[in-house]
Amino acid sequence: MKNNSLKEISKIILNSNRVLILTHINGDGDTLGSAAALCLALRENGAEAWILVEDKVPDNLEFLVAGIYTDKNPFDKHFIAVVVDCSDKERFPERQSVFFEAEATINIDHHMTNDYFADYNYVEKDSAATAELVYLLINEMGISMPKSSGEAIFAAINTDTGLYQNLNTTARSHRISAELYDMGIDHNKVSVELFQSVKPEKLKLENMVISTMESFYGGKGVVAYCTLEMLEKTGTLKEDTEGIVALLRNIKGVDISVFIREQAPGENKISMRVKGDGDVARIARMFGGGGHIKAAGCTIKGTPEEAKKEILIEVEKELDRLYG
Ligand code: 5GP
Ligand code: MN
Repeated sequence: MKNNSLKEISKIILNSNRVLILTHINGDGDTLGSAAALCLALRENGAEAWILVEDKVPDNLEFLVAGIYTDKNPFDKHFIAVVVDCSDKERFPERQSVFFEAEATINIDHHMTNDYFADYNYVEKDSAATAELVYLLINEMGISMPKSSGEAIFAAINTDTGLYQNLNTTARSHRISAELYDMGIDHNKVSVELFQSVKPEKLKLENMVISTMESFYGGKGVVAYCTLEMLEKTGTLKEDTEGIVALLRNIKGVDISVFIREQAPGENKISMRVKGDGDVARIARMFGGGGHIKAAGCTIKGTPEEAKKEILIEVEKELDRLYG
């Protein structure tokens, strides 16, 4: 599990005219922003580049990738594939065969659980966002970076650092952001798109989810859930639950927040966040998921209530490890 250099990777990309860029399922600001930044820079410099997705792009992130994504591989042959912000190939389950059909595969990521599944891999676990690595890569390639690319990187850093509040935020996150300001990006446009374009229905859903909130372990843990029925009642989509797990972590005294989203009958997506010393990546891995120490996720079968019981056993053990 050894990194290739950005120089090596930049050469492979520069030598190819056709680049297919893959994001992870349940796309977030970092994976879509990283993909958009690379795609737009490559197009600006004359290459054919497309982002390949396999599920719906959340409405509030659509502005990042509008017009440059598809759900079918537009290249029949002679293309390379770059996957961004994916720790393993289960993060792009339906596109694995397309990815591995490429003449060369490249994996750019910042998850410590990354298993180096590509021909060329570049993983920096301490990078706040994969987009920071894409910024370095575009610079290494020596190609011009259009403003739209810079705005996509800015969006990704904003979302993955939780507006520069998460523990993963570094001086480099600020430095790159400052360089993007110097480039003339419209940072306010990005903020309005990302954070000030909320649908009223999303707030109604949040209200419903928050009403399920329960604290445990003397208030050091908090859990809430969202059922398919709640989405239906409020006319919202799964992506409208984005941010709730961080909202739960905001509560004073909470160390670990857990959010459970019923994603199909009998199947639940779990999201966890940590404020203090805890490690939720380890818990997520026990259930076949992954992520970062302070932000991780997995899928658990059963009803939301059953999933809650299963996950809380492990979260309580983690709190015991810290405080027991
Ligand atoms: P979220 O809670 O926002 O869905 O995810 C938090 C972090 O954990 C993200 O970095 C995400 O990529 C990762 N993550 C979430 N769910 C999974 C999963 O099922 N498997 C893996 N490997 N990573 C996940
Ligand atoms: Mn990320």
